[in-house]
Amino acid sequence: MSTVLVTGGSGFIGSHCILQLLAQGHQVRTTVRSLKREPDVRAMLKEGGAEPGERLSFFAADLVNDAGWHDAVAGCDYVLHVASPFPATTPQHEDELIIPAREGALRALRHARDCGVKRVVLTSSFAAVGYGHPPRGVPFTEADWTNLDDLSLPAYVKSKAIAERAAWDFIAREGEALELAVVNPVAVFGPVLGPDLSTSVYLVQRMMNGLPGCPRLYFGGVDVRDVADLHLRAMTDPAAKGERFLAIAGECMSILDIANILKARMGDAARRVPSRQLPDWVVRVGALFDPGLRQLVPQLGMIKNASNEKARRVLGWTPRSNEEAIVGTAESLLRLKLLKG
Ligand code: NDP
Repeated sequence: MSTVLVTGGSGFIGSHCILQLLAQGHQVRTTVRSLKREPDVRAMLKEGGAEPGERLSFFAADLVNDAGWHDAVAGCDYVLHVASPFPATTPQHEDELIIPAREGALRALRHARDCGVKRVVLTSSFAAVGYGHPPRGVPFTEADWTNLDDLSLPAYVKSKAIAERAAWDFIAREGEALELAVVNPVAVFGPVLGPDLSTSVYLVQRMMNGLPGCPRLYFGGVDVRDVADLHLRAMTDPAAKGERFLAIAGECMSILDIANILKARMGDAARRVPSRQLPDWVVRVGALFDPGLRQLVPQLGMIKNASNEKARRVLGWTPRSNEEAIVGTAESLLRLKLLKG
């Protein structure tokens, strides 16, 4: 069994990666910004069914400085670099996201190379694949890249595209024997393990707690358990070296589709879920006052399908359905009492 570092173990995807690594018998390390988070992370893992004791160790490290990184990485066979800022709100300046995303990826790779790690798996995003393009009928694949010349890209989208580019450039120029594989998830749902909600999960919480209606937005979905599974496959499969893999369950969903799934599957707990589509003009007016909505306006009505054929064919990945992912989130929010009473 191997020693694996997961950066950002306090996060939604990071915690599920830790659970699956432990289940496979690996020795696991994780970085958190503050060691005070250790009890929270252990509580999340317990919620997921694991009490790893000394098979899991914690290291303090921030994406934006070198302190703690060498100790976290030295002696590891693999690194899953999951940590990156993913706020629900728009930052004052895009560099608040771009700098930690890019510098964090380069820091993880540099320390991994210097410590003789075999492979890094980077959690990138569909944000690095499918933005800044005119509407198209053909599904996006791993051959596509977000067009960074588009000046209307949201800061988060830019941060992920720039970070992934920087990672591949690093490997090409100075990676030496270090290998890189990249996972590009669409919006991630599935069971949450604690009260700190990722931005994607926050959407389901807001819908369950009541929204005025469903904006005409579409996106791909995937279950966090399948995203973690794809990271583990990309970590060890020889065929994943130097490759990126889209993580998407199936067809794009609209917010109204999500509402319909919640209403059909969650019974009385879904009583506040909206059942009507919001006209685009309502969203546009709202966007005049809300910067969060403003960055969604260019996406109204845009359907961006993407293919999971590569992950299925190369790595034997078989994701759950959109419906299972959405219901997994809603059931866990209910179980953890994270919904309005
Ligand atoms: P979370 O917000 O749950 O997790 C983000 C993690 O990154 C947390 O552990 C957070 O630590 C850590 N982090 C953020 N900033 C820093 C920093 N400056 N230094 C150290 N750690 C930092 O989000 P997710 O789990 O959903 O996201 C994880 C990764 O997956 C990110 O790279 C995100 O871009 C990517 N992703 C997510 C998708 C989704 O829909 N959820 C879709 C596609 C990609 P702390 O607890 O201290 O804040």
